[in-house]
Amino acid sequence: MINYVVLSRGDRYSNELTERFHLLAASRGFVRNDKKPDTVVSIGGDGTLLHAFHTYLDRVDDIAFVGVHTGHLGFYADWKADEIEQLVEMMAEQKPRIVRYPIAQIELDTPEGATGYLALNEFTLKGVDGTLVVQVNINDEPFETFRGDGMVISTPSGSTAYNKSLNGAVIHPSIPSLQLAEIASINNRVYRTLGTSVILPEHHHCDIVSKKDQRLLLTIDHLSIERADIRSIRCSVAPAKISFARYRPFPFWNRVRDAFIDFSDN
Ligand code: NAD
Repeated sequence: MINYVVLSRGDRYSNELTERFHLLAASRGFVRNDKKPDTVVSIGGDGTLLHAFHTYLDRVDDIAFVGVHTGHLGFYADWKADEIEQLVEMMAEQKPRIVRYPIAQIELDTPEGATGYLALNEFTLKGVDGTLVVQVNINDEPFETFRGDGMVISTPSGSTAYNKSLNGAVIHPSIPSLQLAEIASINNRVYRTLGTSVILPEHHHCDIVSKKDQRLLLTIDHLSIERADIRSIRCSVAPAKISFARYRPFPFWNRVRDAFIDFSDN
C-alpha cells in the first residue's frame, strides 16, 4: 500500500495536477497521509522539492521523494506533467529502486549553544554589512583566510545549482562529499585563498570561523537566517541521506546533459 502526500508549488497548474494525482491515486488505493507518508510527491519545480525536503526533514530516513515538474526539467523534479498517469501506474505496479543522495550538515557555534541544520543543495554564507571575513580550517588545521562576497558549501546533487554558477565542479551524487566554492574572493597580502573550489570527502570537516560580531547571512537551500552571534560553522557530510523513488532510470549525467547542454527533449 502506498502512503503518500503531495506538495504543490501552489500555482494554478501545479494545484490542478495535484488534484489529478489524488484522483488517480485514489483509484489505485493509495492512502493520503500528510503526517507520516512513505512517499512525498512534489509537483512544481526543484524549489518545491527543496521545500518538501525541509517539511519532512524529521522523517528523512523513512521517506522517498518523487518530483514532477510543471515548468522546465528540474534536477529533482524529473517527471513531466503529462506523464502523471504513467507515474501513478508505475507507483501502483512496481517496486521502485531507491536512490540515496548525500546531504550536508552544519553546526553553528553561538554563545547560546550549538544549532544544527541539514541542506539538500547547499549552505551559503555572506556578510550583511560588507564583505565576508572568515578563517577557514580544514580538519582543525588553518587553511585560508577568506575575504569576499561569500562561500557556498554544496552537496553533490546541489553541485549543479548555485555551485555551478561559480564554476564549481559537477559531482556525481554517489560520491559522498562537500564542495566549498568562493564567491568573489579578494586576494592580496592579507587575505589569501586557494581561488578554486575544494572538495572534501565524507570523513573530513571544515570550520568557518567568523570575525567577532560580524552580521552573517546564512542560507540553507531556499531558507535564510541573519545572525551576528555566530562564532563558527562546522560543515560536514551528514550521516543521513535523502532517498528518491525511481520508477524508471534517469542517470545523473543524462540529467546534466538535458538541463545544460541538449534541450531538445524537455
Ligand atoms: P529560484 O526560484 O531562484 O531557482 C533557482 C534555479 O535553480 C531553478 O531554475 C531550479 O530549477 C534550479 N535548481 C535548484 N536546485 C538545483 C539543482 N540541484 N541542480 C540544478 N539546478 C537546480 O530558487 P529556488 O527554486 O528556491 O531554489 C533555491 C536554489 O536556488 C538554491 O538552493 C540555489 O542552489 C539556487 N540559487 C542559485 C543561484 C545562482 O546560481 N547564482 C543564486 C541563488 C540561489
